[in-house]
Amino acid sequence: MSVSTLKAVVDRAFAERYGVPAINIVNDLTMEAVLAGAVEARSPVIVQTSVKTVKSIGSRVLFSMWESMTAGIDVPVVLHLDHCPERAVITECLERGWNSVLFDASRLPVAENQRQTVEVVAEARRFGAHVEGEIESITGVEDGIGSDTASARQSLEISLRFIEETGVDVFAPSIGNAHGVYSSEPVLDFQRVSDLVTAHPIPIALHGGSGLSPAQFAELIALGCAKVNISTALKIVFMQSSLAFLKDAEARDKWDPRRCSGRSGPTSSRSPADSRSNSAAQGRRDGCRHSSSIVTASSPTPSVTATFRRSTRPSANSPFRCGGAIPTTPSRSRSGVERSGCGAR
Ligand SMILES: [Zn+2]
Repeated sequence: MSVSTLKAVVDRAFAERYGVPAINIVNDLTMEAVLAGAVEARSPVIVQTSVKTVKSIGSRVLFSMWESMTAGIDVPVVLHLDHCPERAVITECLERGWNSVLFDASRLPVAENQRQTVEVVAEARRFGAHVEGEIESITGVEDGIGSDTASARQSLEISLRFIEETGVDVFAPSIGNAHGVYSSEPVLDFQRVSDLVTAHPIPIALHGGSGLSPAQFAELIALGCAKVNISTALKIVFMQSSLAFLKDAEARDKWDPRRCSGRSGPTSSRSPADSRSNSAAQGRRDGCRHSSSIVTASSPTPSVTATFRRSTRPSANSPFRCGGAIPTTPSRSRSGVERSGCGAR
C-alpha cells in the first residue's frame, strides 16, 4: 500500500510547482475510478469525502473500501475529509483512519475559527494526520455545506495570523473561485495567492476547480496552488454516464447492472492497482466506459460525456495531470509547469 500523507504530497508539489488532484468521490465506483486514474497517470492523488458521503455510507464501510482499494497501489494516495464543520465527524474520521481533514469553520468569527482550528490541528497530530484550514466560505453549496453568497475576504494580516497561529498544513483562501458550475468565467484573484505565498510559503488549496481553464490552472499552480480540488466535474460525468448506460440498456432491453461498472465479465478487476493493464480496457470492451478515464481526462470541465469518452491518455496540456512523485524523466508541459514522473503519455 502506498498511503502517503497530505503534507508529503502537497509539500513536494508546492516546492516543484505542480498540482495534485484532490477529487471528491461519492461511492465505491468513483473511489475505484479516481484511484485507477491515478495509477494510470502515475500521479499522486488526494481522495476526498464530503461529510454527506461519510454519513450516507458510514465511516466504517467507507474506510474499509479505502483500505481494500489502496492495497497494493503504487502511487501516493491520501484520504481527506472535505469541508467539515462538525468536530464530531472530524474525530470519527481521524479515529477511523482518514489522514487529512479540512476543518471548515468559515461561518464562525475568525477568532473562534482560529481557536478551534488550533484544537483540530492538535487532535490531528495525535493521529499523524494533517489539516487544511479556511477563514472564508468558498462561494457555492457543496453537499449541503456552504452558501451561495460570496463571503468577505479577510486581510493578508488576518490570514497570515491564522496560518501561523494554527499551524495548518494547507490554506484555502477565497479567490473568486466557487463550488458547482460556473455560469460565467470567474474573475480570480491571482494576486491574493501570490501575496499569501510570498509572505508565508504554504501550499494553497484551490477549491472549485471544475470549469477553470487550463491557463487558469497553470497560473494558479505556478503561484502555489498545490492541491487542486475537483468535485462537480466528476459528479456530472458519473451521472451523465449512468444515464447513457440506462438509455442504452433500455434501447437493448438488457438490464445487467454489472455492465455499468465494467464488471460483467469474469476477468474484470476490482483493484485499482491493476488498472493500467486491465480495468479501463475492460470497461470499454463492456460498452460502458470505465470510470478510470475520469481523472486522466485532459480537462476537468463539466462538459462531460465527451470527457468520459476520451482516450485514457491524458492530454499534454493538462496542468496537473501528473504529480511527479514517481520519477521517470522530468518534463515541462506546454503551460510551463515543471513536472516529473509521468508514466502515461
Ligand atoms: Zn471546496
